[in-house]
Amino acid sequence: MTQTATGKLAPQADPADQVKELAAENRALRARMAYLLEQAERNHSIMTRHQAFDLEIVSASNFPELVGTIFRVLPIISELDSVTLTLVDEDADIRTVMLKLDVVFEDFPGLQFVENINGLGFDLGRRNAYSPTPKPILGMYDAQRHAATFPTAPSGLQSVALVPLLRNRRIIGSLNLGSCDPTRFTPSLGTDFIEHMASIIAICLENVISNEMLKYIGLTDSLTGVYNRRYIDRRLLEEIARARRQQYPISFMYIDIDHFKRVNDTVGHGGGDEVLREVSARIKNELRTSDALARFGGEEFVALLINANLDSAAFVAERIRASVANSMIVLSPELRLSVTVSIGVASLDPAADGEAEAIARELIARADELLYAAKDGGRNRVVSLLPG
Ligand code: GH3
Ligand code: MG
Ligand code: MG
Repeated sequence: MTQTATGKLAPQADPADQVKELAAENRALRARMAYLLEQAERNHSIMTRHQAFDLEIVSASNFPELVGTIFRVLPIISELDSVTLTLVDEDADIRTVMLKLDVVFEDFPGLQFVENINGLGFDLGRRNAYSPTPKPILGMYDAQRHAATFPTAPSGLQSVALVPLLRNRRIIGSLNLGSCDPTRFTPSLGTDFIEHMASIIAICLENVISNEMLKYIGLTDSLTGVYNRRYIDRRLLEEIARARRQQYPISFMYIDIDHFKRVNDTVGHGGGDEVLREVSARIKNELRTSDALARFGGEEFVALLINANLDSAAFVAERIRASVANSMIVLSPELRLSVTVSIGVASLDPAADGEAEAIARELIARADELLYAAKDGGRNRVVSLLPG
């Protein structure tokens, strides 16, 4: 017994009990240490995987590569059962440009588009320039509300996180994460990590989308929306090389609107522009998706036909001529006019040798020569062989 400061006697602890107590404390501490260490290692491994993911998406050079990486890698490194993306695409600009650049949307069933931010399902409150940005929504999976957002999910999704993709306070879409674990996304969970991930994804998306837009603008004719000369010059060289390698024919058409000066004189320059748009649409309508149509300048178009010999290209050219000539172009209820085109058609001999550049120049020159024969012959006609 020992005396305390108050003079009362306190019971003396049994030394054996003290040792046991210390040992238990020690074990608990060790277990806690082991747990913290395991957590730290786990976090480190998650961080490392995410850093590798960040690097991979930052270096994606185009839209399909970026979206493909997100869908392929994110479910694995974040152990998710479903990852989808919804992008705001007012006026379908993104979709139009991507289709033009041959993006195959069927390859990305987890990618969806909405017309405006209301379609994303965030609580937007009364948003203005100073209002706080929306936070991720975390909670139980509800088929009625979420099935459309997770079209590719396996059955048994239990919890979801809808994370806004923000650029300069603007919502460009949402990153949607789904898990079969009901405790994975709960409303009380901290969202710093997924918000950070979403911010990197948003930057990358904005980057590739604007790069693709620039690419598109550089390759298209702004008046008609068909390709421009720069595109066809490059594509022609690629197609010549491929046609010679794989031994199939390609053909080239030179199409020129007849007496277009008169059209401009009659309906003005604006009306003339409208005629250019309508004629290009009619030509395009007769071509296959594998063919390429470009405005070469002024009222001249060229078309590159893949796997088409001279006969079949002349047949298509005749269809184009007829579709322009056979019905009037309606500029307004009171203003309609007849327009015709002349077409020269030339084909590449797959056995031809020499530089692709020289062959391309010859092909274009020959189609041009045949076009002039069509003009000489009275216009509104197709010429694929020089007379005589
Ligand atoms: P031809 O039957 O011999 O081809 O006669 P044409 O009048 O079509 O021939 P030409 O090539 O001499 O005239 C082309 C006209 O196309 C001249 C130009 O004013 C007009 N043009 C060129 N670019 C544009 C354009 O972007 N918009 C409009 N509206 N007109 C254009
Ligand atoms: Mg002309
Ligand atoms: Mg001309």
